[in-house]
Amino acid sequence: MKKYRILVTIIAFVTVFNFVFGQENKKPNIIYIMSDDHASHAISAYNGIYKDVAPTPNIDRLANEGMLLSNTFCTNSICGPSRAAILTGKYSHQNSFYKNEGGDPFDGSQETFPKILQKEGYATAVIGKWHLWSEPTGFDYFKYHTLNGEQGSYWNPVYNDNGEKVQEKGYATNLTGDFALDWLENKRDKTKPFMLMFQFKAPHRPWYPDEKYKELFEGIEMPYPETFNDDYKTRELTAGKTMMTIENHLANKDLKITPPEGLSPEEYQKWLRIGDKGEHVSPSDTLKGKALKKWKYQKYIKDYLACIRSVDDNIGRLLKYLDEAGLSESTIVVYTADQGFYLGDHGWYDKRFMYEQSLRMPFIIRYPGKIEANQKNDDINLNIDFAPTILDMAGVETPKEMQGKSFASNLMGEKEKCWRDAMYYHYYEYPKWHNVQPHYGIRTDRYKLIHFYYDIDVWELYDLKEDPNELTNLYGNEDKKGLIKKLKRKLFKLQKEYGDDISLEEMREATRKGMIKY
Ligand code: CA
Repeated sequence: MKKYRILVTIIAFVTVFNFVFGQENKKPNIIYIMSDDHASHAISAYNGIYKDVAPTPNIDRLANEGMLLSNTFCTNSICGPSRAAILTGKYSHQNSFYKNEGGDPFDGSQETFPKILQKEGYATAVIGKWHLWSEPTGFDYFKYHTLNGEQGSYWNPVYNDNGEKVQEKGYATNLTGDFALDWLENKRDKTKPFMLMFQFKAPHRPWYPDEKYKELFEGIEMPYPETFNDDYKTRELTAGKTMMTIENHLANKDLKITPPEGLSPEEYQKWLRIGDKGEHVSPSDTLKGKALKKWKYQKYIKDYLACIRSVDDNIGRLLKYLDEAGLSESTIVVYTADQGFYLGDHGWYDKRFMYEQSLRMPFIIRYPGKIEANQKNDDINLNIDFAPTILDMAGVETPKEMQGKSFASNLMGEKEKCWRDAMYYHYYEYPKWHNVQPHYGIRTDRYKLIHFYYDIDVWELYDLKEDPNELTNLYGNEDKKGLIKKLKRKLFKLQKEYGDDISLEEMREATRKGMIKY
């Protein structure tokens, strides 16, 4: 009897110990959801101009149950480079992935956060868009879009499925959703915590919506952004020289214009690209001028937002799965995009510039029990911080070579006293695509100073408080000289800190390497 009592006491003790300490030490699961080119002002939780007409209820659910970050910025606003910065926690000049095209493939031998988590006992997978030209490292399983410059296709896409090329039937966003759920339910090692990178191809150009959403916004006139008719005054050599305007640089393919009859397959492929370089493109002979520009915007923005509807649906499927599988409480869910995007802002589509709409990334995080519901955060966070933050939340130390910093404690209400008060940016790809001059710059909570340097030498200064739309370059103003001096000092200090204090000639070398010309 006594022996029995001792045994019961031991079992009870072990159970309580495991409950108290085992639960504490249990690693959280992590689902990192990232879409391609989804601007924060196209998410209703961010309160943009489309919030009523094109809501995103499932992404908003994450914000309602977690925290929405309003000042998360990209360090090089373009697909591949942002992804490389996210994985490595390092700037482009440190991880060597500067451009989408024309540079070297991503060096997968570098330290990345998935690789570290895998070593720490996580089951890891990446499903959907990858776009780094070399096969993923650090994942137990990968299935990513290949072909079309690593962009993949919206319809019947070809994936690299753990090293094997397979063509799947259907719509990319839904397929990526299917494969993510399949991995979670059937493929992963369920004895381990997991980290899934769930990455949509959508809503990247050429914005092909699912069949069922092709007419989603029929009969509605989408609102226009305030800077739709920007005349690029005071920014003629930079913003004024792009090839990404709604008015003159959308192609037949982007606008889904009906092709003329009788084209050969080669002629048809060529015809699809007409419009990119400023050629006149119109759905009819009579539609011209400002009316044509508005028509193009409506076509573009409706297709873009319809693609997002499918992304939001598939996030809804995932959240429902987590609820039903009893995983919601133990899983961190992040929603972000590889950069922001111009939704007719400044008259543009695309990204690249250090101006607000493409610099800013959406970032929403739900972490039950650690981050309270319905929170907002406006600290300056960067994409190079994602890796240290995720590692930190998994209880793993950040390797020294990573340049970002964990903002995990900021999210949990213990803001570091000396958190970053300015961010550094550097963009390289030129002239293709879209003719955006390479530039670097600094953004504080109020000011932005940019240097465009490739074959021009132009500085721009914006006061984001007085001019949030960045329409007036103040650089030449006499009364701003003191401010400029101060900002430059801070900018050069950051360049030194990050190891980017090299000559302009050396910077141009990254752009020149494998340069793709028009
Ligand atoms: Ca992108």
